[in-house]
Amino acid sequence: MADCGGVLRFGWSTAPETGETALRLREAHFCRVRHCPVCQWRRSLMWQARFHQSLPKIVQEHPKARWVFLTLTVRNCSIGELGEMLTAMNAGWQRLIKRKEFRPVSGWVRTTEVTRGADGSAHPHFHALLMVPPSMLAGSNYVKQARWVELWTDCMRLDYVPVVDVRAVKATIPEGAKPSLDAMGFALQRAVAETLKYSVKPGDMTDDPYWFLELTRQAHKRRFVATGGVLKNVLRVDEETDADLVMADGSAEGEDDGSRLAFNWRETERRYRRAPNGDKPAR
Ligand SMILES: [Zn+2]
Repeated sequence: MADCGGVLRFGWSTAPETGETALRLREAHFCRVRHCPVCQWRRSLMWQARFHQSLPKIVQEHPKARWVFLTLTVRNCSIGELGEMLTAMNAGWQRLIKRKEFRPVSGWVRTTEVTRGADGSAHPHFHALLMVPPSMLAGSNYVKQARWVELWTDCMRLDYVPVVDVRAVKATIPEGAKPSLDAMGFALQRAVAETLKYSVKPGDMTDDPYWFLELTRQAHKRRFVATGGVLKNVLRVDEETDADLVMADGSAEGEDDGSRLAFNWRETERRYRRAPNGDKPAR
């Protein structure tokens, strides 16, 4: 992780419409350690970009689709029990999606986040973005918050009442303004960003090395993201190369002459500086 993104190489890219020239990241080496803060950030951008690339087609096929943001939690557990808890939560989710209340959901993206409790415990929870028909927000298939709590309690076989948050993704429209497609798109973008953000806060890793090392052990080989229904494979989670992470925020448009300007991370200064020795000439 210490060497992650140590050298960055940028290339000039000219936008075809405006003729504007800008430097775009073209080459970098990422460590790909799951909880690495740099990699988590690039991965989140990449998934968001893929989600938004797939969205127009999905919306075209389901023009009435609405979106619900669901957060499912359990009580904090000790960090040593995290693996077991994640297994139980995955089983709980599998039961939940088979319940009749969940059946109208046409697609979902679910991520796992683990935060650190002040007492050194672990707080694992799910963030899920559900694509639903309008009837699920107001109408025959409506599921109220209290029912989501019952469902999650039941599916998790808990003997206490867990915290469950459910919110429809709604555009915030300034007073007097008309609802617009843009405002809705923006609200969805925020919900997607919230769902696909980091799974472990960088601060939680550095505050307590023991907690972070144990988390790494407990989370080993466990998936922290899952998709289903019409959103299945929308993130293409198994496709992740350095090139994918470089182009995380969309592919660079325009001509590429192959020339590269290098920057490297200076540990003592804690910043990137130009490193001309690493430059590459135009092809
Ligand atoms: Zn990394």
